[in-house]
Amino acid sequence: MTVHPASPNLETLARDGSLALYLHIPFCTSKCGYCDFNSYAGLPDHLVADYTPALMREMELWATAVRGLRVDTIFFGGGTPSLTSLDDMAAITAAVRSQFDIAEDAEWSLEANPTELTREHMDGLRALGVNRLSMGVQSLQPDELTLLERQHSPERVVEAVRDARAAGFDNMNLDLIFGIMGQPLERWQDTLERVIDLAPEHLSCYALTVEPGTALHYQVAKGLLQEPDGDVAADQYEWTRTRLAQAGYGQYEISNWAKPGRECRHNLVYWRAEPYLGLGAGAHSFLLGRRMANIDAPNRYVEAVNESWEERRDTGGGQLRQIAGGETPDEETLRADAIILGLRLMRGVSIEDFRARFGVTPDEAFGPAIAKHEGYGLLERVDGRLRLTDRGLLLSNEVFVDLLPDDEDEA
Ligand code: SF4
Repeated sequence: MTVHPASPNLETLARDGSLALYLHIPFCTSKCGYCDFNSYAGLPDHLVADYTPALMREMELWATAVRGLRVDTIFFGGGTPSLTSLDDMAAITAAVRSQFDIAEDAEWSLEANPTELTREHMDGLRALGVNRLSMGVQSLQPDELTLLERQHSPERVVEAVRDARAAGFDNMNLDLIFGIMGQPLERWQDTLERVIDLAPEHLSCYALTVEPGTALHYQVAKGLLQEPDGDVAADQYEWTRTRLAQAGYGQYEISNWAKPGRECRHNLVYWRAEPYLGLGAGAHSFLLGRRMANIDAPNRYVEAVNESWEERRDTGGGQLRQIAGGETPDEETLRADAIILGLRLMRGVSIEDFRARFGVTPDEAFGPAIAKHEGYGLLERVDGRLRLTDRGLLLSNEVFVDLLPDDEDEA
C-alpha cells in the first residue's frame, strides 16, 4: 500500500535525540555484474543535473519534522557519490548544514569508486568536510575485477588510496568481496594481504551473493559461470577473521573490521535499530518506529519531490510524494528487527537494554528460537549479552530466520 504522510503528521516525528542522515546518489559510470543496488548507468545528463536540486528540496521538506534531532553521522551512499561534481557537493553539504542540526564531531562518510577518483576531487571533498572515505575495491586480482565487471585495476586502487592519504583522509574503509566463483583461498589471501599493506582504518569483507536480476545471476543461470562455492567462502571467512585479528583489526560486525575507535558510526546506527533519515531515490528511513522508502526511479523521485516542494510552497502543507511506501511495524516486528540487527554485532544484544526498550527479555520474546540455537551452539550468553558464537557467525541466517515474525518467515 502506498502511504503519503501529510506534513502535519510529520511534526510528531520530532523528538529529542539523534539521527543518522543517509543521502543516496544513484548514478554509476557502468553497472557492475553483481550489483543489485538502486544504481543506474547511462542516465541522461539533464536527470543528473536535476537530481542535486531535488535532493536539496527533499532536505527542506524534512527539516521541520526532524528539528531538535542532532545529526551525528552523514553518509553519502550509492551508486557512486564520488561522481557528483564538487560544485554539487558544495551545494549539498551546505544544504545539509543549513537544514539540519549537525554535531560538531559528525562523521561525514562518502562512498567512492577508485576508477575516476582524482586527487583534486579528494582535496575538494576533504575541504567540504567529508572526513571518511569508503572505497569500493572488491578485489586486487585483474581477472576477478573483470568477472565482477569493475572498471578499475589493482594499480588504480593503490594510487587512489595514496592520493586519499595525501588529501588528508585519515579514516578510510575499503570494501572487499570474497567467495568469488573459482577463487581459491590463496587468491583471496593474496588480495587481503595487499590490502592490509595499504593500512586502511576499516575493512568490509562480504561474501559474494548472486542476486536475482543481476548480470551475474544471468550468467550463472545460463551455465556460463559456476555458483560461488559456500565451503570455500566459509574457509576464506575463517581465515579472514584470524588474519585481520593478527593485523590489529577488531571485528565488530559479521562483515566489518576496524582499527580501535574506527568503527563506522553511521552503520552502527542501523545495527542498533536507531533512527535514520534517508534522502534520495530509493532511500529508506526509520523514524520513531515508522519505516518509509522513497521511490526508486531517479526521474520519478525528482518529479515527486518537486511536486511536494511546490505544494508546500503554495499551501504550506501537502504530502511527501517521494515516499513510495511506509508502515508502522508492530511491536513484534520491532523486537525482531532489534535482535536480528543486534546479533550482527560481535558484542550481540544486551539482555537488559532489550528489556528496557521492549518490556520483555529476549527469552520472553523469542524463547524457543533462542533455546534451539543455544542448543546447536550458534548462540551464547556472555556478561548479560546474547551473541552469535564463532560457528553462529557462519550460519547466522539460520538463526535470523527463526527470529522473524511468523508472517515474514512465511513470506
Ligand atoms: S559502482 Fe557500486 S553501486 Fe555502482 S554498479 Fe558497481 S557495485 Fe553497483
